[in-house]
Formats: sequence, structure tokens, C-alpha cells
Amino acid sequence: MKLAKNARFATVCLHAGQEPDPSTGAIITPIFQTSTYVQEELGKHKGFEYARTQNPTRAALEANLAAIEGGKAAFAFASGMSAVSAITSRLSSGDHVIVTDNTYGGTFRLFDKVLTRYGLQFSYVDTSRIEEVERAFTARTKLVFVETPTNPVLRLSDLAEIAALTHRKGAILAVDNTFASPCLQRPIALGADLVMHSTTKYLNGHSDSIGGVVIATRDEDIEWLRFIQNSAGAILSPFDSWLVLRGTKTLPLRMKQHTANGTALAQFLEKHPKVTKVIYPGLPSHPQYALAKKQMPNGCGGMLSFEVASLDVARQVLNRFKLMALAESLGGVETLVCHPASMTHASVPPERRAKIGLSDALIRISAGIEDIDDLIEDLEQALR
Ligand SMILES: *Cc1c(COP(=O)(O)O)cnc(C)c1O
Repeated sequence: MKLAKNARFATVCLHAGQEPDPSTGAIITPIFQTSTYVQEELGKHKGFEYARTQNPTRAALEANLAAIEGGKAAFAFASGMSAVSAITSRLSSGDHVIVTDNTYGGTFRLFDKVLTRYGLQFSYVDTSRIEEVERAFTARTKLVFVETPTNPVLRLSDLAEIAALTHRKGAILAVDNTFASPCLQRPIALGADLVMHSTTKYLNGHSDSIGGVVIATRDEDIEWLRFIQNSAGAILSPFDSWLVLRGTKTLPLRMKQHTANGTALAQFLEKHPKVTKVIYPGLPSHPQYALAKKQMPNGCGGMLSFEVASLDVARQVLNRFKLMALAESLGGVETLVCHPASMTHASVPPERRAKIGLSDALIRISAGIEDIDDLIEDLEQALR
């Protein structure tokens, strides 16, 4: 099984990084549930010494994810947050970081409550406005950390434009690509130096594993990430690595269905009399529809939000769903709904929520891959 250099995306997802097991021919990479490896003689081993440092199941996943994102190497971590943490470990005390203002709540918490104690400085900026990004640079800016589309108001940032600016200023660009998935958005092709994912979401896709990954392009980042993965030790377990490998095999199929369902739900909601606003980058009514078409040409995925008349109405609607499950998280095969203001974004102060356009009457949907008619029926009865 040899993957051609010009193999297409779906083929890469399915095959990259995986060889039949040499001892048995097993087509699926086994779960190497071991802590250590026997050495043949002193100083002679098969490239595996201790399982924090090297594990074949994790290595297969890392090769797979590096190929999928179009990077040179990937490093799998125990969660999306430990992946973010590995990226920021590139920095030194006194360094400054520019961050998308409505970045994932856990990322904000790590930056604001933990890393500021180590002398790192963060500026939270509306990265959809390039002038604001440019204004935020200081002589000590080393990293720009962008999330696009953002959660839950689905604001986009122009990655090609930000990458060019960041490099002109001598800093590096890291992109949290969790919401889009590499199927729909290719940050490295647009100039990003580092890409991270919470594999918990679309990459694993089955709501049964927590994990994270950083994909890198520059040798100095790769060397450091390999060092920090082993030194800090927040590695992804063999079983979780195996689960994510299973997930990426169907990523293109799933993303097609997530996008089809997300689009159909957004169109249904836009026509519904009880819905006051729908936010989905794939709708022409989205203020950044043109950028969405350019940056996410294969579609906009399964994440959408909508507003109803009041918090009270939102509460009634959320409590009436039968098929859609009320839960945090996203990107799994089953449809989830949530109330960001009281769930995922409860720790964000009300003024900040208002500034990013997150109202108390906003409901977020992570469209799964169920039959669309069943989803629309559920939405219809919940809104009735
Ligand atoms: C979930 C999520 C994270 C954090 O990932 P965990 O796997 O929960 O640690 C980071 N960024 C985004 C955009 C997420 O959705």
C-alpha cells in the first residue's frame, strides 16, 4: 500500500501514515498498549524505548494528521487544551501574543488565568478586522493566535491576510482549526505556521474521546514540539489515538453531511417566523459570506446559531428538543444544541458577550449526520 504523491484528500484521510502491521498484516494499526519496549542488546532497539516518548499507534495518527493538514509533522496531545498549551510553550516571559477576541473559553482561561502569571502578555483583538490586528503588534509580539470561524457567533478572519501581516512583523501564526476541520479550511496553505485542533470534535467525530493535536511546518517548531511533548508529557493515549485514526477515515464523508445538514437547518431557520436571526457563514445573509466562499470553498460545516425573541423563549425551545441533545461540545455524528450564554460561555462577562454579539436568546446547533427531515421535524416542533 503506497500512497501516491498526488493522492486526493479523501484518500489521504483514509491511508496516510498507516501501514499494515508488519508482524500480522492487520490492516488497521493496532492499539499498542505498552509502557516500554524490549531492547535487543545494549544500545540496539527498534526506534521505541519508552511509551511517553514513542508509541506506534500515536505515531500512525500523527503521520495521518500531518498529511491531512498539509504540514510536516504533527504531535498528539491529551486534549485540545494541552495542544494550545504546547504552542504557547514556544514563548518566553515578556513575549506578547495577539489573540482572536472571542476565542474558545478554555483558551482564554489558560491565557488569562495561568500564562499571564509567567509574564506573557495577551491582546484580545477582533481579528476579522486586519487594521485592528496590525495596531495590536508591539515590539515583543511573537505569536498571533487566531480562531476562525469563532464560537458561537461564527465570525471569520482572513487567514491569508493575517499570515502575510504576521510574517511581515516577524511573528508566527497559529490557527485553531477545530470548528472548520481540515476538510473545509486549510490554514497552512494560506500561510499559517502552526495549526491546532481539539480532536475531540470533528477529527474524532464520534463524541467518545478527548484529544488535541498541533501540526507544524517549520523545523524549529517541530523540534520544540517533539521536545515539549516528551518533557511535559501530555500525550494522547494509544486507545484515543486509535479512535481518532478511525475518525479521520470518514472525515470527508462526515463533513459533507454536516455541511449539508447545517446548510439545510440554516435555510429552514431563516424562513421561520419565530427566528429573529440566523448566523451561518454559508448563508448569503452572513456579513462575511464572500470571505467564507473564498476561505472555505468546500462548505461551512455543521455549526450554526440562531436567535429567538427572548431568553425565556430560548429556554422553552431548548427544553422541547426530542432528537437534538442539549449538551456542550460539538462536531460529533449526533446533533447537539446548547445555550452559549449559560453553558459554554457562562464564564465570559456579560459586557464581553454583548460586544461579540452573543445574546441571551442565542441557541447554537452542532448539526450531526442524521436524516435532515428528522432534524427539521424536531426543530419545527420545538419552535411551535
Ligand atoms: C473544544 C475546543 C477546544 C479545547 O479542546 P479540548 O479537547 O476540550 O481540550 C479548543 N478550541 C476549540 C475551538 C474547541 O472547540
